[in-house]
Amino acid sequence: MTVKLFQTDMYMKEADSTVVSLEGNRLVLEGTVFAPAAGGQPCDRGTVNGIPVVDVQEENGVIVHTLDPSAAEDSEAADAALSKMSAGAVVHMVIDWNRRFDHMQNHLGEHILSGLFKKVYDLDNKGFHLGEEHATFDIDSKEITQEMLDKIEDLANQVIYDALPVTVEVLENFEAASALPLRKELKVEEDITVVTVPGVDCVACCCPHPANTSQIGVIKLIRTEKYKGMTRIHFKCGRRALMDYRQKHNVTTVLNEKYSADEFSLLDKIKIADDKNESIRKNLNRMKNTFAEIHAEKMLAEADRVVVGEMENAKIDDLKRIAKKLVEMTDLPVAISSASDLCVFLTHSGKSKLKCGKIVKEFATGAGGKGGGGDTQAQVIFNNLDLMRNFIMIVKASV
Ligand SMILES: [Zn+2]
Repeated sequence: MTVKLFQTDMYMKEADSTVVSLEGNRLVLEGTVFAPAAGGQPCDRGTVNGIPVVDVQEENGVIVHTLDPSAAEDSEAADAALSKMSAGAVVHMVIDWNRRFDHMQNHLGEHILSGLFKKVYDLDNKGFHLGEEHATFDIDSKEITQEMLDKIEDLANQVIYDALPVTVEVLENFEAASALPLRKELKVEEDITVVTVPGVDCVACCCPHPANTSQIGVIKLIRTEKYKGMTRIHFKCGRRALMDYRQKHNVTTVLNEKYSADEFSLLDKIKIADDKNESIRKNLNRMKNTFAEIHAEKMLAEADRVVVGEMENAKIDDLKRIAKKLVEMTDLPVAISSASDLCVFLTHSGKSKLKCGKIVKEFATGAGGKGGGGDTQAQVIFNNLDLMRNFIMIVKASV
């Protein structure tokens, strides 16, 4: 059994220990400051004699550290340190304290939130996941309202303001632990570590937590999603919550400047701008239709077997709009093009024998054009104005 130094002193950042065994890069020590991955919480990272520890797992009470010299800044020195390590040697452990404290803040935050959901709404936490960026827990109910979330968030932060001591007890057996008001059923029979936040939560857990709820700093619920008939709640505690606030504050500040607003008037100002944009879009659409009608009438008046027209400056969507008007006005085939965008749109009402896609395939795609289509509609884009105009001539000649 490895001595769990992180349980006796969760603030221990470094310590010496003696090597029990080293097989390949799997290191076992007499005692360790490295907390293994457990119950949804990732493991600690850090170094042993300068060699990076990339994974820590508990296997039947024995904590195995996976070392990776190649992850060190000086991998040659780390390789040399590993080759000198053997059973009986005294080594020095250092954990990545920022990572550990982030885990401690978020893990205790999850205990408090779960304890409050149980206490206030009699709802159970069925799962916990703490990732590098995301922390979530699953509450066994589909119906979690915003009002419930706000209430739990307020109460959870009150637990922080109250600066409650967090106690850790190691109980010898099931009976001793069962006497406590545990939130969850026990999974182990002996050496049961129970973490208690007085009046809020009591649960078996062997991960390190802060000794006082005030060290969480802040608990913020972020969002919810439906998950396997439950509600998955995303949350952030401590420094994560501060970073989240900083990022969101930066976004809000940029938006406030853009819309000449403050946090309270921003949404109203965005709505006003959206309404104005919608009105401009409608006006533009109306003008484009009028423009298309004028061009369609002019092209039709000059048409001879095929309605042709070359726009000086137009996008394919503009050509389609004019073509649509023409198809409503005539059964002649329509071939309109754009000199700026070097694109052609071919179409007709269905009463012409012209096969639009076929003529594109035969005379455009082999001659510098890219495109295709069906019998009554096709489009093609060229890389050269002369080739485009040649193609229009072919279309005219083929009808
Ligand atoms: Zn815990």
